Amino acid sequence: MNNNLVNNDINTALPPEYVDITKWAEAGYQWQGSFELSQFPRLSEILTEDTELQDKFPSILQFAISRSDGVYWFEFVVKASVKIQCQRCLQQMDFILDKKTKLAILEDKSQVGLLVDDNDWLLVEDVSDLIGREIRLPVATIIEDELLLSLPLAPKHEINDVHCVPVEVLTEEDLEPILEEKENPFAVLAGLKAQE
Ligand SMILES: [Zn+2]
Repeated sequence: MNNNLVNNDINTALPPEYVDITKWAEAGYQWQGSFELSQFPRLSEILTEDTELQDKFPSILQFAISRSDGVYWFEFVVKASVKIQCQRCLQQMDFILDKKTKLAILEDKSQVGLLVDDNDWLLVEDVSDLIGREIRLPVATIIEDELLLSLPLAPKHEINDVHCVPVEVLTEEDLEPILEEKENPFAVLAGLKAQE
C-alpha cells in the first residue's frame, strides 16, 4: 500500500492528488490548507498569465471524504482571488473563485436510489483509478473540473466600469488578409507539385 497517496498534515503541505477512499472514508478524511495554481493546470491556462494567489485574499482549500447512507461523499470548499480576461475590453479583471460542492461518489448507478436529496454524483469507475482494492479518488482533478464549470463563459467588468472600453470586433473583412496569408505556404506547395 502506498502511503504517499494520503497526507493528514494540516496547513503544511500541498493537497494530495489522490485519496484512497476505501481506506479513509469510514473514518472520515479531512484536509485543509492553501494551494498553488500550478496544481490546477487547466484552470491556470484560462486565468490571466500574471495571476498570483494574493495574500490579501487568502486562498483556501478544504475537502472531506466520508461515507454515509451507503455511499461515499466528497465535499470541498475553494476560495481564491484570481484574474481573468474581460471579454468586453480584453483587460484583466479580478474574479473571486468561491465554490462549495458536495458530490456523492457511487460504486454503481443503482446507488442513485440511495440519494435522498437531489445530490450531484459521480461514478467511481468514471473518475477513479482502481488499483487492486484501492479506489484512488483524484481529488485535485475533480476539484479542478468543478472550478472550470463555475467560471463564467464570458466574464465582463461591471457595466458602469469606466475603464472597460469595448475593443473593436474584427469583421470578416479584417480577417480575410490574415487567412490568405496563412494559406500562402500551401499555395506555394501546390505550385511546386504542379511543376513536378
Ligand atoms: Zn472590461
